[in-house]
Amino acid sequence: MTRRPDDGPEPPADGGSLRGDSLRGGSLHGDSFHVMWRDLAAIGRHAASGGYRRFAWTAADAECRAWFEEQARARGLMYEVDRNGNQWAWLGDPARGNAVVTGSHLDSVPDGGAFDGPLGVVSAFAALDELRGRNARFTRPLAVVNFGDEEGARFGLACVGSRLTAGRLTAEQAHRLTDGDGITLPRAMEAAGYDPDAIGPDPERLARIGAFVELHIEQGRALDLTGDAVGVASAIRPHGRWRFDFRGEANHAGTTRTPDRRDPMLPYAETVLAARREAERTGAVATFGKIAVEPNGVNAIPSLVRGWLDSRAVDQQTLDTVVGGIEKAARASAAAHGVDVDLVRESFTPVVEFDHALRDELARILGKDAGLTVPVLDTGAGHDAGILAGSIPTAMLFVRNPTGVSHAPAEFAAEDDCVAGVRALADVLEGLACA
Ligand SMILES: [Zn+2]
Repeated sequence: MTRRPDDGPEPPADGGSLRGDSLRGGSLHGDSFHVMWRDLAAIGRHAASGGYRRFAWTAADAECRAWFEEQARARGLMYEVDRNGNQWAWLGDPARGNAVVTGSHLDSVPDGGAFDGPLGVVSAFAALDELRGRNARFTRPLAVVNFGDEEGARFGLACVGSRLTAGRLTAEQAHRLTDGDGITLPRAMEAAGYDPDAIGPDPERLARIGAFVELHIEQGRALDLTGDAVGVASAIRPHGRWRFDFRGEANHAGTTRTPDRRDPMLPYAETVLAARREAERTGAVATFGKIAVEPNGVNAIPSLVRGWLDSRAVDQQTLDTVVGGIEKAARASAAAHGVDVDLVRESFTPVVEFDHALRDELARILGKDAGLTVPVLDTGAGHDAGILAGSIPTAMLFVRNPTGVSHAPAEFAAEDDCVAGVRALADVLEGLACA
């Protein structure tokens, strides 16, 4: 059966009890996961595409953030927004330190799916509810977090909230970020009611965190192939974004003779094909998914074609080879067509190895309870956890994605697997933060 992308997890067939038997049998205490999922489902959903448009500091984002605050307050948690606009919900006094933090993000890519980000935040609150249902005794402060502007859909840089916090992006750099309408990040934050002059590194906050665990839908099919509902992350592959500016000469599409043209669309097209060739040759991935054309008229030869390359590989050397090969092809083709080309690396994240001790601890907790070997896998997708891994012990749990589709309306995880994810996260938090 084809499911609508906005449906969220399927309701249980028997109308009540949920089967989290993919990892471990039994049900959750209460149905807060479903209630939260339903409440969040309508926010920022685009009617025509069925996908989500929850971009940083927009009205949809504000609605998501209001939802987060509501969840925090409804549970009697201490709610706060940090200097970088990240939202926190605390159980226990953060000043005690060695806190266990879990959560993810609520913003989306253009026409993104329902699960990327929100699954981690909803599961975090649901896991807390589950632990309270188990009468867990907390020995460490616990927080649920919603990191701001994770996808970078609006300002072109991913993980702005966590990068600022970790000092991986300076306030000056962030102040220069500008969206497609020419609105700068500080103006956008201000319009949303936040103080852009306060942004910057937050080492005191990070010093209070002993472990960060982010649950996320898998953005690939590794778990589907192994037949597991939940896995533990080992590493995030190195990845980056590069902007290619091809500058030619605008002219009339009907009257300009072919030999007289300096058409930047041609080297752009050849660069796209080169990206595919390099990816196939090396086993990496390379994608041109965003393009801007000037003047963008159907009857005009373009003056500028700007294309954004996203590339990721198993290691740094492979990534360098891929991007180097694409650049070489772009320059050769541009020269052949009398077009100038500039290449700018807009962002880059080196390989991230998650904390080995924490990762092994997660695998031990989950393996012990489930009597299973929990798969440990790497991923080509970036996450706030990857940014924070440079500052604090960090780990990730992945929930099976049967089609592997992500960053698209068809992104999906089965209800049983979502429940298994909540249980796994609750087990992990219990193992880390409870007596
Ligand atoms: Zn995400």
